[in-house]
Amino acid sequence: KVPVQLQSLTKKFSDEGKIITAVDNIDITFEKGKLTTLLGPSGCGKTTTLRCIGGFYKPEEGKVLIGSENVRGVPPYKRPTGTVFQNYALFPHMSVFENIAYGLRVKKMSNQEVKDKVNKGLELLQLDNMGGRLPTQLSGGQQQRVAIARLLVNEPKVLLLDEPLSNLDAKLRIYMREEIKNIQRKLGLTTIYVTHDQEEAMTLSDQMAIMNKGRIEQIGTPVEIYNNPANKFVGDFIGEANFLKGYIEKIIDDTAVIRIDDYKIKSKVDTDEFSEDDRVLVMIRPHDVEICDKDEADIITQIRWAAFLGAQVNYQIVMPGDDDFTVYDYQADQIMEANEDINLKIKKSLVIEKL
Ligand code: ADP
Ligand code: MG
Repeated sequence: KVPVQLQSLTKKFSDEGKIITAVDNIDITFEKGKLTTLLGPSGCGKTTTLRCIGGFYKPEEGKVLIGSENVRGVPPYKRPTGTVFQNYALFPHMSVFENIAYGLRVKKMSNQEVKDKVNKGLELLQLDNMGGRLPTQLSGGQQQRVAIARLLVNEPKVLLLDEPLSNLDAKLRIYMREEIKNIQRKLGLTTIYVTHDQEEAMTLSDQMAIMNKGRIEQIGTPVEIYNNPANKFVGDFIGEANFLKGYIEKIIDDTAVIRIDDYKIKSKVDTDEFSEDDRVLVMIRPHDVEICDKDEADIITQIRWAAFLGAQVNYQIVMPGDDDFTVYDYQADQIMEANEDINLKIKKSLVIEKL
């Protein structure tokens, strides 16, 4: 049974008479027991999508299916979802215990049952002795855990998390990432996780959906998306990427010979999408370029400038079309300087878009 599915979902807002399409006709299936991130830049429609699933917004078009049931018109508290908002939304005047107990009391559970469940929640989130404290007496990370515990005691089938770590400092964020992943795995909870942080998404995701301007650009595992981004936007957003313009001279199997000015490089190509003589954009990750001897070089050019970063040296390289091009050197026993000649071997590249 599919836990959550969005079909042609569209949500619009009107802002001073102007219509904004915040979510633009998206389709996605969230797999059971898996963690899926919605990843994209600020304003791309992640929160709006999550709120449509949680029942806080009513979409103009399309469907939200939960357990293959269309949940149109079902209010949030009657959906099998639990949401953690960006600011946690804890009740400041209530103890940690009562914050976590809140939903159970609304359901009129017996005192004994409430006590059992809350204590289990406190234990699961390592808040054992914190039940009597007020939220203001907790650190950011502990408040975060209370918000999650409050959710989990209600035993939701689907967990909805909106940038849950964005208020924490860098160190705690990395620690809480692991915590969330552990709990999610342990309980086998179907989880939809909104973030704009690509590293966070890469570490947490079973599946990622890359969003841009209200649309989903690509869905896949972190490895699939990193290695085979569907277009320039995705390639640029996930990891570091260089792009060069060229044209396809010939294709042999899944390899294209690309002419870029006077240079020729071999590049992986999807033959369903591209053919000979197409003008194309080629993506080259900085770590897929090797500094080599002149006789093995694909590209012979000059250094624009060099930045020494300790463990690596970043070189900006002069390239045809004046495009920015970065190369990392991890084994720099000597650092080269601006205007020096440099010989590059392109170990891996991908034809990514037609021009
Ligand atoms: P994200 O969470 O990816 O940053 P949002 O879903 O919050 O993006 O917003 C998507 C777009 O919809 C943005 O252009 C935003 O300004 C607009 N938007 C979001 N909520 C509202 C609202 N309540 N009223 C008007 N416009 C909104
Ligand atoms: Mg948001």
